[in-house]
Amino acid sequence: MQSETNLLHDLNDKQLQAVTLPHVSALILAGAGSGKTRVLTTRIAWLIQTGQTSPMGIMAVTFTNKAAKEMLTRLTSMLPINTRGMWAGTFHGLCNRMLRAHYRESGLPSTFQILDTADQLSAIKRVMKAMNVDDEKYPPKQAMGYINGCKEEGLRADAVEAYDGHSQKLREIYAAYDQQCNREGVTDFAELLLRCYELLQREPHIRAHYQQRFQYILVDEFQDTNRLQYLWLKLLGGAHNSIFAVGDDDQSIYAFRGARVGNMADFQRDFQVENIVKLEENYRSHSNILDAANAIIANNNNRLGKNLWTSAGKGEPIRIYEAYNDTDEAQFIVDEVNMLQNEGVPLGDIALLYRSNAQSRILEHSLFSAGIPYRVYGGLRFFERAEVKHALAYMRLIANANDDTALLRIINFPPRGIGARGLEQLQEAARQNECSLWQAATNKVGEGKLGSKGLEGFVALVRQMVDQAYGIALGEMAEMVINLSGLMTHYQNDKEGEDRIENLQELVTATVAFSKQDLGNHHNMEEDADLLTQFLNHASLEAGDHQADVGHEALQLMTVHAAKGLEFHSVFISGVEEGLFPHEQAAYENGGLEEERRLMYVAVTRARQRLYLSYAQSRMLHGQVRYGIASRFVDEIPAELTKRLNSKPVSKSYATGGQYTPAPSAQSGYPFKIGQGVRHNKFGEGVVVSYEGNASDLAVKVNFGSTGLKTLMLEYAKLEKL
Ligand code: ATP
Ligand code: MG
Repeated sequence: MQSETNLLHDLNDKQLQAVTLPHVSALILAGAGSGKTRVLTTRIAWLIQTGQTSPMGIMAVTFTNKAAKEMLTRLTSMLPINTRGMWAGTFHGLCNRMLRAHYRESGLPSTFQILDTADQLSAIKRVMKAMNVDDEKYPPKQAMGYINGCKEEGLRADAVEAYDGHSQKLREIYAAYDQQCNREGVTDFAELLLRCYELLQREPHIRAHYQQRFQYILVDEFQDTNRLQYLWLKLLGGAHNSIFAVGDDDQSIYAFRGARVGNMADFQRDFQVENIVKLEENYRSHSNILDAANAIIANNNNRLGKNLWTSAGKGEPIRIYEAYNDTDEAQFIVDEVNMLQNEGVPLGDIALLYRSNAQSRILEHSLFSAGIPYRVYGGLRFFERAEVKHALAYMRLIANANDDTALLRIINFPPRGIGARGLEQLQEAARQNECSLWQAATNKVGEGKLGSKGLEGFVALVRQMVDQAYGIALGEMAEMVINLSGLMTHYQNDKEGEDRIENLQELVTATVAFSKQDLGNHHNMEEDADLLTQFLNHASLEAGDHQADVGHEALQLMTVHAAKGLEFHSVFISGVEEGLFPHEQAAYENGGLEEERRLMYVAVTRARQRLYLSYAQSRMLHGQVRYGIASRFVDEIPAELTKRLNSKPVSKSYATGGQYTPAPSAQSGYPFKIGQGVRHNKFGEGVVVSYEGNASDLAVKVNFGSTGLKTLMLEYAKLEKL
């Protein structure tokens, strides 16, 4: 075990003061890279090491599951402790855990499922259909935003005020949606928090239990808590516990999701916080980067005000590249990434950030063509892929057949002849009897009133699955589901099903790994739900978290939002254009521009050594060509900190699609252009990378993604243009 001095010896005075505060509530208010997260983790270690509490007495709230995992890893490297009983996780994760432990008092079935955003939207659409609501007048997405917004304020439908016909209707949809969820025994992300909050409020003995247990509550990224999260913390904090909140008002970037910087002021007042520790030394970045960040954020008003400085040298200038168009920009990034790699910078320590998800496609395309491995954080992750969700839906039915969302997903997938009409009849029967679709289906089958043969087959299938699932291991269950359901055969018959089959196999691997892994960090006996439910739960939370695992080396692609709290050797911020970053919508929203600027501040402060900003004179976005000028944020950086990499963007070769060498064209005897998408009957879809050989035996090199680069003889390859 490290001695106490060892644990603390790297800290500066302010950090030391914060780490070793007595049992009081405190606010650590500090800029990016000043060691907030490090202080929070070290404080946990110190509290345990000095015997002030045990891991059981601590609750640590982080912004992502990834951050929670990293914290526990850091902790175990500081202290040889068992983090099993420790409650460290996201607000959603922690609330989920509490609800599982007290499902009865929460009015939930023990196997309750969590709808992810896509499932929630489809559930809302169903409610609206049943209510005959015009979905042009009330777009389902808007209804979802309304419902989640209310929940994040801590308000149930009967507590929301409605001012006019429109808001009354939305309130009705909210109420009906809640009823449907209750009937089906499912929750959504916002519901986890609200229900947990209501549980603690309603049940004094449960509240008292957790208040006595969590004497030390530590919250990272406090500036991005919403109203409900704050109220939840306040309940758990009670009159006596210590809440240690760390945050940075300049990094508040979730106002659009209900985050309230005002929580900082409320916290100081509600908890009589006397200890506000400000950390001002930045340990992350060189001063050129830090000065640029400071200069940008200085344009915002209403800041709490902090000075950030670093003893690191100036470092490299900030590199600015003005691209001719988006392809040129992407190619520039590819070239620089290759150079960084040659300099020995690991790919995983390089981030490519963008303001909007839509920007990633063209960047991905260029990286893919160049054979640079990359990982998109926040894209379609494993658990979000259609085939995986299909298989999970069957598993969800095994856990709880009344889960209508799961049932609807696969009642006719693989197709078994249940048509839209049959489904409507079933939904009608369920509405009339106020029961779940499964119950309606079994009734119909029982009474012999069959809408179709398919329905009978479906009911028999699910029953068979439930029977066979009894007492077998989770991995076997996944395999059984994939085979019995017909999913495997379905994709085997599909020419392009290879990837999907691999994903289904990967799902079996995931269940086996899940059963084996030490579940201690997340679960223990007192709150045991069966393994299947735990796994399904894990799948929804992982999918919702939008964070990829740290795996093998890959360039890290993500939106600026997803980059919060992380750091990299080199960072590219792409698309730094007016209208894109700041986003054009910001102009219409109150405080929108300031939030965009904080977002830029977050982006810039992710870099340790090298920072690139790029913008393009024109780009295709949402199917239109847009002509852009440099973002005002570029101009807010003092020129002496920057280096312009080009004076005038006239790189014709880049502009034609990102090739240095003249790209062979169809006319010159090459059937495909470089960069052309092609299909091969064995390897699937790929992209033409280059040609080898001469006309008589021309070979083409194609990047087939996960299958890798293949060199194929053109004559035999039978490639099809996509
Ligand atoms: P952000 O606002 O981006 O979340 P943060 O304030 O949480 O940043 P950390 O991530 O904790 O900052 O720390 C930034 C970097 O500085 C990390 O690499 C951390 O290990 C390092 N660091 C923090 N404090 C010290 C210190 N006293 N000595 C050396 N390195 C430090
Ligand atoms: Mg941090």
